[in-house]
Amino acid sequence: MTIKERGLMKKERFDSRFSMVMYFLKGSIGYFVLFILFACLVSLLDLINPKIISYTVDTVLGDDPGTLPLLIENMLVPLGGTAWLKENLWAVASAVMAVALAGAVCRYFFQYLNGVGSEKLVHNMRNRLFDHILHLPFSWHSENHTGDIIQRCTSDVETIKMFLSEQLTQLFRVIVLIGMALYFMFNMNVRLTLVVVAFIPVIVGYSLYFHTKIGDQFEKVDVEEGKLSAIAQENLTGVRVVRAFGAEAYERARFEKQNSYYTDFWVRLMKLMSAFWTSSDLVSYLQLLAVMVYGTVLCVEGEISVGTFIAFNSYTAMLMWPIRSLGRTIANMSKAGISIDRLRYIMNAETEEDHGVCADVNMHGDIVFDHVSYQYENGSKDILQDVSFTIPGGKTIGILGGTGSGKSTLMYLLDRLYELPQGSGTITIDGTDIRDIPLFYLRENIGMVLQEPYLFSRTLEENIAIANRSAGHEDVLKASRTASLDHAVSHFKEGYQTFVGERGVTLSGGQKQRTAIAQMLVRKAPVMIFDDSLSAVDAETDAKIRNALKKSTGDSTVILIAHRITTLMNADVIVVLEDGKVAEIGNHTQLMENHGIYRQIYDLQSRNMETEVIA
Ligand code: ATP
Ligand code: MG
Repeated sequence: MTIKERGLMKKERFDSRFSMVMYFLKGSIGYFVLFILFACLVSLLDLINPKIISYTVDTVLGDDPGTLPLLIENMLVPLGGTAWLKENLWAVASAVMAVALAGAVCRYFFQYLNGVGSEKLVHNMRNRLFDHILHLPFSWHSENHTGDIIQRCTSDVETIKMFLSEQLTQLFRVIVLIGMALYFMFNMNVRLTLVVVAFIPVIVGYSLYFHTKIGDQFEKVDVEEGKLSAIAQENLTGVRVVRAFGAEAYERARFEKQNSYYTDFWVRLMKLMSAFWTSSDLVSYLQLLAVMVYGTVLCVEGEISVGTFIAFNSYTAMLMWPIRSLGRTIANMSKAGISIDRLRYIMNAETEEDHGVCADVNMHGDIVFDHVSYQYENGSKDILQDVSFTIPGGKTIGILGGTGSGKSTLMYLLDRLYELPQGSGTITIDGTDIRDIPLFYLRENIGMVLQEPYLFSRTLEENIAIANRSAGHEDVLKASRTASLDHAVSHFKEGYQTFVGERGVTLSGGQKQRTAIAQMLVRKAPVMIFDDSLSAVDAETDAKIRNALKKSTGDSTVILIAHRITTLMNADVIVVLEDGKVAEIGNHTQLMENHGIYRQIYDLQSRNMETEVIA
């Protein structure tokens, strides 16, 4: 989906957990309805066989005049009724078999539909989350931890899937099972049924209490596991720092401590679980014992038949597991609820605003910053204060300023990575406010080499072509030549097909910067921003790249941000920023004559260079 299409999309808000679940279920809800139906059918079929066995024992083998459902009664009449059954026991056995077979078929469909439905659900959930996250503003990403977002998209998605596909189904199934079993039992004997019923709240209550308690423990285990993987991840990513500072022993001790803590948690949890399973087994068997003892008494007294006694025992045994799982399902509901809220937090985050309609702005026109002031949402001071200057279309402008003076912020605002609030000044391109330009159009036409380039774990060529998917091999070569990258690549065994390792670790700092420059050059955007992009290359390469750039940038407007004056002294206009304010504007000659801050920096840097040469 393009940003343009997204801009036209209705923004959905999920005010309740239910609406969130229904949104995720879109596209797979049919499977859910069907497999829940099959699950209930399985429960119903499971309940029939004890009934057949009870009838066989009492009426077919014994002499009790039992009753059959009307339909079956009518079918048996022409054959000779119960008398025929007494002669043809195979018919009863076949009925048991047929019910079991029908149960197996329903189980198959239940499993199949459950598998497909839940995978479809997870597939849709991941896609919808990923799509939404991709369109969340830069500011949202800087406020939220990557690890946390990933955790939400993996383990919370999994929790919801488990809940919907297993526990919720179980809930329906168990309710049908308990409801129908109790109905059959009440019809057979009320007093014996009451014995069974008396145990249900005890078992469900105990299981609910236990699982709620254990749920809290599981949450703590999750937190501890998160801490453990954070240590591991930090050490893997920062392996160089750990080695360089000889911090292996310290890091190992830290990991071991956390690992022991985590293991202790699990051991305690396992102890709790063992205690629960044993005690709840005991309670369930007590229920069975009570049914057996009281049932025997009733049987001896002649209140119930042997067949009823057998059926009662089968039903009680059949209910043992579902009753216990009911408590767990109810307890897990709150866990799933928390996971749904965690995903709702992501899905309810506002995507980038895009109301722009002016998709025909001449991006080669003048760029004007007019009384721009800016403060980050989480920052306390004004980063930019009343900044005004003009970048003439097609010209090269240099922005010079100390660390933290707001240079990158200015560019983020121009590319609308951060949104300039209304009333804090305006940024216009060819007279049009950038807020009126659709995001896709604006970003398509502004190419920016970020100060901290990020390379994907793909080949070098794929990394360079990322900015322009229609770029061919020749375009990549040309861009690399301009960025002075070709020489370095010629030393790689696999040239442009070299796999750039995770976060580009196989490249040097300067090579990474040059890859980022090449990345932007394949784009041929009307506005090109180089944010401190030549800081990691030596002065000679810097000059070489600048010369090559001058030839290839054509009529594009070029914005060069640098700390080194030599990088931008040939620019048509130079803006000097100091603490978020414009200190000076002019070309090199004018600024030198001004004897202001630019001149001071120039003198300082030339002196340093001389000292370096002498040293
Ligand atoms: P440098 O030359 O070091 O790259 P810069 O001129 O590019 O510096 P900016 O990156 O624009 O400086 O940062 C200006 C100020 O804004 C700094 O004080 C920085 O701490 C602050 N800042 C930058 N990004 C954020 C952010 N996402 N949230 C809050 N404050 C920020
Ligand atoms: Mg910066």
